[in-house]
Amino acid sequence: MHRIEHFIDGEARVSVDNQWLDVVEPATGGVVAHVARGLLEDVDAAVSASRAAAPRWAATSVRERARLLHAIADGIEVDLEAFAHAESIDTGKPLSLARTVDIPRAIANLRWFADAAIEAGHTAERFDTSTATNEVLRMPVGVVGAISPWNLPLYLFTWKIAPPLAMGNAVVAKPSELTPTTASMLAGVASAVGLPAGVLNIVHGLGIEAGAALVEHPGVPAITFTGGTTTGRGVNQACATSFKKVSLELGGKNAMLVFADADIDAAIDTATAAAFANQGQICLCTERLLIEASVYDRVLEGVIERARALSIGDPLDASTDFGSLISEAHRDRVKAAVGNARKDGAQVCTGGGRPSGLPDRVAAGAFFEPTVLQGIDMDVAFNREEVFGPVVCAMPFVDEAEAVHKANATDYGLCATVCTQDIDRAARVARQLDVGTVWTNCWLVRDFRVPFGGVKHSGLGREGGDDALHFCTEARTVCTASRGTVDASGAVPTGTAT
Ligand code: NDP
Repeated sequence: MHRIEHFIDGEARVSVDNQWLDVVEPATGGVVAHVARGLLEDVDAAVSASRAAAPRWAATSVRERARLLHAIADGIEVDLEAFAHAESIDTGKPLSLARTVDIPRAIANLRWFADAAIEAGHTAERFDTSTATNEVLRMPVGVVGAISPWNLPLYLFTWKIAPPLAMGNAVVAKPSELTPTTASMLAGVASAVGLPAGVLNIVHGLGIEAGAALVEHPGVPAITFTGGTTTGRGVNQACATSFKKVSLELGGKNAMLVFADADIDAAIDTATAAAFANQGQICLCTERLLIEASVYDRVLEGVIERARALSIGDPLDASTDFGSLISEAHRDRVKAAVGNARKDGAQVCTGGGRPSGLPDRVAAGAFFEPTVLQGIDMDVAFNREEVFGPVVCAMPFVDEAEAVHKANATDYGLCATVCTQDIDRAARVARQLDVGTVWTNCWLVRDFRVPFGGVKHSGLGREGGDDALHFCTEARTVCTASRGTVDASGAVPTGTAT
């Protein structure tokens, strides 16, 4: 069986104690590979390799670093079909989704941050006064630890590693052990295009073992983490004790607000996509559908109809648009959340169980139907806790104030969508929603330049654009006195501000 090894100091390596974990294809339940189970010693080796490589990489011109990132992107592009196939096997997501979203977006991440780093190098941050010039240097921190989840494996892996690499840092990355294949394939491409040994290191393994060892490692001054809120809290605590920089992209309990003045058909399409894309396993998916009372039945029926029309099947089949969840254990968690919601009074409008009539190859897979609930309000746990599956709960509201109140009534604050044709209302509501991103009449439209992240329990800090470039650097201000302005005592002159 295929073995997926660590990538340390430019070479594939087994774990120091040669332990392995199974990689399961969730759509079938079958073991498809074994992945190295990294422990502290493996993380140590990766951090040592990174620290050794970091100074030379930082001294490499930004154009050369960008050239290598583009070369990795080229290599993935050439092999896009193989990457997409591997992503579909590891996650259970439709091959068509991996082919059109996950892998192209991973390529775009590498290219965009490569170019952004060049651009950042051109944009001098200089502030002159009559007595001195201040220049802000963005110095790489050295080694960045990058931890990414299973739902969008290569998409989020590249989102985490591209900014630090482009800005001259070495990276130790830990992908989810559930979905290690495409990160390992990327390592092969990086090696082939000549990325210097030690600049990118990948340690596979369990979060509580390899992940925790990376977070706690004294040789890693910055951690960028995407994953669940509970895990993120622990990561944050571990980083706090040693004053590490930390960026946390965590969970969400996102609401869509559909007002009666919206383009209703478009809102139904948007709600269906936002609830069920990637089987509901995107941090930005809508789990609460707030609908103005006068159009409640129409919107709800539309979403139910669209959910039933989704083609559930073998992820490798071109006609499938809804695949398997990530694992049997996660499917059971989603099922339990629906069961608890029912006990709390929810009605299941559609879905709620394992789909019938699956093809033989995937008959034992971790499938769960697209599910729509109604009949429970914000006091019920289902509407406050992240499920991270294909389940959305519809709730009516009578006016704008109630819609905003309900949308904000969770500990999470990642994103929200507002459907309305009244631009004044859209602007007003956006300013009241306690989230990092508000989409108006759209969902998951992303621009690399804008800050991305959550408030409250959805995260700490922002990624994307300059925020991502700044996170993996330390600002160093160099203040140089203007010629002739140092007084006779040699005192450093002050400018107009201190
Ligand atoms: P987890 O928090 O379980 O895991 C995320 C990553 O952290 C994995 O690589 C995991 O490894 C690792 N990890 C687990 N425990 C530790 C630890 N103690 N120390 C260091 N690393 C650890 O999340 P999931 O993988 O289940 O991903 C789903 C979650 O991610 C959802 O809550 C979702 O909302 C969130 N998410 C947030 C996004 C955002 O941008 N805000 C985007 C995508 C997802 P392992 O898998 O081996 O346990």
